[in-house]
Amino acid sequence: MNMRPQARRSFSSFTAPPLEQQIALVSGANRGLGLEVVRQLAATGMAVLLGSRDLTLGERAAQRLRRDGIDVTAIQLDVTDQTGIDAAARYIENTYGRLDVLINNAGAYYDMGELPSSIDLDTVRAALETNLFGAWRVCEALLPLMRPFGFGRIVNVSSGCGSSAVDGECCPAYRVSKAALNTYTRTLAAELGGSGILVNAVCPGWTNTDMGGTGGRPASESAQGVVWAACLPAKSSITGGFFRDRQRIDW
Ligand code: NAP
Repeated sequence: MNMRPQARRSFSSFTAPPLEQQIALVSGANRGLGLEVVRQLAATGMAVLLGSRDLTLGERAAQRLRRDGIDVTAIQLDVTDQTGIDAAARYIENTYGRLDVLINNAGAYYDMGELPSSIDLDTVRAALETNLFGAWRVCEALLPLMRPFGFGRIVNVSSGCGSSAVDGECCPAYRVSKAALNTYTRTLAAELGGSGILVNAVCPGWTNTDMGGTGGRPASESAQGVVWAACLPAKSSITGGFFRDRQRIDW
């Protein structure tokens, strides 16, 4: 799949994939939805970096994929650790010279049972650190690997919970963090308008994972909407949107 204009490679490396192969990074990809997104992106032919805050868990996940014939590279990435993010960005630049697709999937603090009137604000801060600032930090570190090539796809994995159209008192920290991530998505998309870099938020829907528990749908189904936004074609003008299953949903 070649959806990208001819790119300049700033570093030569014998491990670098051919220019027509896109390079993708998925955060929080050692399990759950992120792992499935890695699997599906790799199936499109992309060279995929499987981000994991615990590299051992990331390597294990990558090995499981390799047993299924899917070759991906595990990379250490804790989205709350600026030094680690900078190191990951340097690794990507030195190895590939660019990044085409960034999936900000890492998410946490689904604070079911908490109430907005009584939740410990440390929990709210922690949720924002991962779900908002995590994606923000990673974007700031990696945009320099997209901008010079006039191409990029950034997908912020959000949640319908963060929609202002959805009322409710549960999960206040998570809800506020995803609403803020949605607003960040819109502002970044506006800044990058016309740059060739498309930025969208995607709600995967209720999914059977450690976070989602049971009763939701399989990650293989939920990942498809994320992969769709990651694979928007070269001429696409879809940016600054909020989607579930390829359909726009209310902010
Ligand atoms: P999950 O199974 O709990 O997986 C979360 C992933 O995020 C794990 O790999 C976890 O790593 C990683 N993570 C957490 N904090 C991190 C950090 N500081 N740095 C890097 N990675 C970190 O959750 P999931 O259901 O797959 O969720 C994936 C995304 O979908 C999240 O953004 C979530 O909010 C969103 N979402 C999920 C649902 C659902 O029903 N499941 C619905 C709507 C939206 P560790 O293994 O190291 O903890």
